[in-house]
Amino acid sequence: MTNSEQERWSRVKGRLRSTVGEDVYTSWFARMDLEAVQDESVHLSVPTRFLKSWIQAHYAERVLSCWQAEMPEVHRIDLSVRTAMRCATPAKEAPVAVEARRAERGDAKPADTRAPVMTPVAASHDALGGSPLDPRLTFASFVVGRANTLAHAAARQVADGRRGDPVMFNPLYIHAGVGLGKTHLLQAVTWAGNAGGERKVLYLTAEKFMYGFVAALKSQTALAFKEALRGIDVLVIDDLQFLQGKSTQAEFCHTLNALIDAGRQVVIAADRPPSDLESLDDRVRSRLAGGLVVEMATLGEDLRLGILKSRVAAARAHHASFDVPEPVLDYLARSITHNGRDLEGAINRLLAHSKLNNQPVTLDMAEREVRDLVRPQEPKRIKIEDIQRVVARQYNVSRSDLLSSRRTANVVRPRQVAMYLAKTLTLRSLPEIGRRFGGRDHTTVLHAVRKIEALVGKDTTLNDEVEALKRQLQD
Ligand code: ADP
Ligand code: MG
Repeated sequence: MTNSEQERWSRVKGRLRSTVGEDVYTSWFARMDLEAVQDESVHLSVPTRFLKSWIQAHYAERVLSCWQAEMPEVHRIDLSVRTAMRCATPAKEAPVAVEARRAERGDAKPADTRAPVMTPVAASHDALGGSPLDPRLTFASFVVGRANTLAHAAARQVADGRRGDPVMFNPLYIHAGVGLGKTHLLQAVTWAGNAGGERKVLYLTAEKFMYGFVAALKSQTALAFKEALRGIDVLVIDDLQFLQGKSTQAEFCHTLNALIDAGRQVVIAADRPPSDLESLDDRVRSRLAGGLVVEMATLGEDLRLGILKSRVAAARAHHASFDVPEPVLDYLARSITHNGRDLEGAINRLLAHSKLNNQPVTLDMAEREVRDLVRPQEPKRIKIEDIQRVVARQYNVSRSDLLSSRRTANVVRPRQVAMYLAKTLTLRSLPEIGRRFGGRDHTTVLHAVRKIEALVGKDTTLNDEVEALKRQLQD
């Protein structure tokens, strides 16, 4: 395998990691290897059949679109199970094509029950025990600032409610980008809500909801699963954007309705607003949007400083000699702008470094240790609507022209440019982009992307226009 293939693979993995989140990534993709890239297909391998069928059933499209973001020509992902001695012998099992088609989702069932202990198979025995909670993620360690005041207040309200209290807003729906504190806040609600022993608060990741349901169906205890779910006071679901598969969604919809109608509280977090959960059906989306929808913004510098201080304080509970001087904290808060995870990572590194080398933390050391977490500029989450607006203005057409079926040259080119920007500046998949451009097919989007890619290489005017648009959108 060439170096450039390896590099590309790392970038694809990076994309996957940021779309699915650290936890999902670690559960399902950490042991996925690149075997070969050939023309339009990419050959990947995983160590167990269980992983293979799960990835095929739930992530085929996502894996494909992450590859396409790096290599638009890729059309097919072959996934195989690698044998222990794959250096000596090629993988035994013939690779099975993972086609990014809806029909395939949901029906593949995990086949290998001998999967290693850490996979969710083990967890399935306890489908309703909830997902594991991190004892550090409580209200006490949650720092409140401008970015999250409302979300925090609403979460507190839910956590402090008592059985039988009227529900003020239902569901509470919190959305924010990666690492901005969604999981922290949801787990805080769970800890606090369960503390009195009066109410039962159940925290489930969408993955766990799906897996619990699939497993329950398999063992034919679906009824028990539903009953148990309906017997709780507050249902907390994290990372709803991962809820996939028709039957799971139908079940989610029933559960949601049953709980809300019975006056039970539902709390949900996702990385986007309900209107952008494109795979969910309209009724579910409007039900989700019908409660209180709160966005948590990117962490401001004050909030970042607060989080760093709370992390240092937590570390000092176990390592009394650990200290991070004020100027170092200021430096970190100013330069690590991306997300809460990186802030936590920075403190962990400083702690490790100072422990291992038995040295105090200095600015010099901090600069060296966290260099890779410092990003020159905070990548902004760009929305497809913004792209359409900016492109429409630039070319003096209306946004509805871009979404219309008109095919005159003065709209066709701007539309293609807008689709191209949507593909390159957002993580949205081709089918999603097609839908957002007046319900077009993904092949139309792909055609537009390729067309503009080819043109910017030759046409300097167009190239300048596209660059200017990118700058406008990224500032
Ligand atoms: P998300 O679920 O939104 O991706 P997390 O809740 O996992 O983000 O947060 C990532 C990290 O940042 C965690 O270590 C979390 O404790 C920390 N963090 C984020 N926001 C806050 C906050 N307001 N106060 C304290 N810690 C925070
Ligand atoms: Mg999370």
